Amino acid sequence: MIEMVAFDADDTLWHNESIFTVTQEKFLALMKPFVSSEGIEERLVATEIKNSKLFGYGIKAFMLSMIETAIELSEERVGARQIQEIIDAGRAMLSHPVDLLPGAADAVAKVSETHKVMLITKGDILDQESKLARSGLGDRFSAVEIVSEKRPATYERILTRLGIAPEKFLMVGNSLKSDVVPVLDIGGVGVHVPYHTTWAAERVEDEEAVRKRPRFHHIDSLAELPVLLSRLDAAT
Ligand SMILES: [Mg+2]
Repeated sequence: MIEMVAFDADDTLWHNESIFTVTQEKFLALMKPFVSSEGIEERLVATEIKNSKLFGYGIKAFMLSMIETAIELSEERVGARQIQEIIDAGRAMLSHPVDLLPGAADAVAKVSETHKVMLITKGDILDQESKLARSGLGDRFSAVEIVSEKRPATYERILTRLGIAPEKFLMVGNSLKSDVVPVLDIGGVGVHVPYHTTWAAERVEDEEAVRKRPRFHHIDSLAELPVLLSRLDAAT
């Protein structure tokens, strides 16, 4: 029997990457007078990945990476006005409405009737807390973990604290790298619910190999989760 069902938040319960994509488009337009558009995106992603070790994940880190990329690509010609526009774009992201994914609220409500549910997300604490509060889903979760990285040890630490055996733990999320693989690694159940776009740093090299692993499951939408859960519970 599954004892705890953990949900990822960004791009699992609500839209997130699509907001980054829109801002990235604005950034590309902003850089146009300074460099040819070739390779701007790759450069930004490389800067983000490099900075994530120091800045963590989230919008504030993204703003700093955009500023750094702008300065580098323009060879220091970018002006205060452009830097201000980048900051404004980040500020707009931070106050962007929380758009729940179709079926997300129903799935959390339904699963919470039969199982303990929790939220495990990475990013800025302030931003994630604010989004959770605005999502209206906060009361459903018996625990909320906002972590800096989702590694096997991160999940182990959470499960130890909650006193839950890995085989009784199910994590559902859009990222194979953060939500599924580390959970499979510690002996838990990993459920992949893809979002239409995946940030470059969240991709895994061999998706097929992940799909073949024991305890891996795929659903097309969170609406399928209650049925999967009752199937898994019936099998044990
Ligand atoms: Mg996610």
